[in-house]
Amino acid sequence: MAKMEVKTSLLDDMIGVGDMVLLEPLNEDSFINNLKKRFDHNEVYTYIGSVVISINPYRPLPIYTPEKVEEYRNRNFYELSPHIFALSDEAYRSLRDQDKDQCILITGESGAGKTEASKLVMSYVAAVCGKGAEVNQVKEQLLQSNPVLEAFGNAKTVRNDNSSRFGKYMDIEFDFKGDPLGGVISNYLLEKSRVVKQPRGERNFHIFYQILSGASEDFLCKCDTCAFFRYSSLMDHSTRVLFSGKCSIFQIIVNAMQIVGFMDHETQSVFEVVAAVLKLGNIEFKPESRVNGLDESKIKDKNELKEICELTGIDQSVLERAFSFRTVEAKQEKVSTTLNVAQSNIFIALCFLKAQTKVRKKVMGVLDIYGVFINLTLPGIEWTHIEYFNNAIICDLIENNQTGILAMLDEECLRPGTVTDDTFLEKLNQVCATHQHFESRMSKCSRFLNDTTLPHSCFRIQHYAGKVMYQVEGFVDKNNDLLYRDLSQAMWKASHSLIKALFPEGNPAKINLKRPPTAGSQFKASVATLMKNLQTKNPNYIRCIKPNDKKAAHIFNDALVCHQIRYLGLLENVRVRRAGYAFRQAYEPCLERYKMLCKQTWPHWRGPARTGVEVLFNELEIPEEEFSFGRSKIFIRNPRTLFKLEDLRKQRL
Ligand code: ADP
Ligand code: MG
Repeated sequence: MAKMEVKTSLLDDMIGVGDMVLLEPLNEDSFINNLKKRFDHNEVYTYIGSVVISINPYRPLPIYTPEKVEEYRNRNFYELSPHIFALSDEAYRSLRDQDKDQCILITGESGAGKTEASKLVMSYVAAVCGKGAEVNQVKEQLLQSNPVLEAFGNAKTVRNDNSSRFGKYMDIEFDFKGDPLGGVISNYLLEKSRVVKQPRGERNFHIFYQILSGASEDFLCKCDTCAFFRYSSLMDHSTRVLFSGKCSIFQIIVNAMQIVGFMDHETQSVFEVVAAVLKLGNIEFKPESRVNGLDESKIKDKNELKEICELTGIDQSVLERAFSFRTVEAKQEKVSTTLNVAQSNIFIALCFLKAQTKVRKKVMGVLDIYGVFINLTLPGIEWTHIEYFNNAIICDLIENNQTGILAMLDEECLRPGTVTDDTFLEKLNQVCATHQHFESRMSKCSRFLNDTTLPHSCFRIQHYAGKVMYQVEGFVDKNNDLLYRDLSQAMWKASHSLIKALFPEGNPAKINLKRPPTAGSQFKASVATLMKNLQTKNPNYIRCIKPNDKKAAHIFNDALVCHQIRYLGLLENVRVRRAGYAFRQAYEPCLERYKMLCKQTWPHWRGPARTGVEVLFNELEIPEEEFSFGRSKIFIRNPRTLFKLEDLRKQRL
């Protein structure tokens, strides 16, 4: 009986096929048509086996109600029509009942619905786990972390009105019964530069507008924030409407901060820093020639500076001196950097949620990361890509310690002399000119000399998904990401305790003459930690797709969807599922288990494990169509092959 149900829910002609694995025939057109058919019938979820494809409906659908939660609760994955709740339920139950830590990996381009998906997973899990007042408080804290982080880390962009400008990974921790204990949030690559500069038609982080239209009169007067602010001047009409009046959004954030665990005075402090950032953004400089021939920049309006100092308790002469520098350019840059650092440090400060320690915890990780970094960060996990495109080459191009793009950027930033984005690009050209996935027009012998679609100030990388063009402007600055010491010292001297805390490197007792790590190397290190963490968990995939570029409901743009399907490698995903590689294992344990079957690998194999497995399979004459080599794992199609290996092993023992 259950089987019949499966059939009707997954193979309904009217609304398309619920699981792409059952799609006949299988090709790009049929794949897209199936998605479209389902989308037109409000079915925004489709499976590829256990992978969930999610298409952003761009309008509220009545499919996330408490009744729906009940419907999906404790049911088998394939029993009901595809839904993000089914995946959430499956993940939560394996965590609770089988003690397997889980991670939910959400990918897709900006505006595809990743963040909404992560919130849906969290709210489903919150709805089905644990009971009781204490547990409820933890759940509330977990859920309320979202509006807080979004206020400080999200902004309106051309692609998404609520675009996350940081990557987020959250570990939700549970006790042995499956009741939530707390969470730990890590964030990646907050787009700090947005504080001082936004692309045309885009806005600053939400909080800057929310505070201006939502904070109390008292607060605004105290901070004297009635003036015009450069950093939030992009407030357009629709935003004014959105935030006008009592600004319930601001109130929601204040409440959320309270639930998450901020004391009232701490919340107040955070907003004072936001106000100070706004006011710092108003400072303007003018050049002044000095007798020694060097230009010095002077602050145009000392009044503004005075107010900032009152708000933050920084000595005015200290701050002014810290701002004195040789050129006007460098000056502006210093202010920008200060603000960027303030923003990101506030943000980091917001990322701590309480979690009890010491008990053995079960963990569910939820990863929501934006942009092309997915491509760069998840090579080991995206096993389905492996058979068709060697992502390792790209990762090497970017991450290699000597000749990778990040390493060269670091090197360029450390080099004495004039370092500019152009010198960096030139250098890239010298080193990468012959790389098969690197394209640029700078060097004379470039294959792309006549490619007018490639501006001189850009380079292009052919990623798995397709080509991505990188404009080098700002690369060096963003990578440098360092705050001039005199400024951090000025900040550290503030009597405002939060500001002081945000600039610990300004403490003269802790002066560190070593250069701080660049953005690139910080990123590499944090990704390495993340990867290690993810690899210990059972992965669950949600692939988000944006149906159109208009942020509009009901519109399904075939070409746009097609691009994303390719980008996400979904067709290959189906093929691999269908081909039925029933068994996959990392190279090391595989070699360890079977190395005794082959003279060359026994008792020790000195080379890489993968090569060892190759040698082993070769010697055992396992038919080629029976296996496939992934980046970190071997895939075996038929259990027969495994039985054979096991039998041989038994004979030897
Ligand atoms: P991403 O994080 O991938 O950039 P978001 O999750 O922020 O994208 O989604 C962008 C917008 O699309 C949201 O603000 C929301 O308006 C809409 N949206 C996304 N997912 C859904 C959904 N499941 N139901 C309704 N609207 C959605
Ligand atoms: Mg997002």
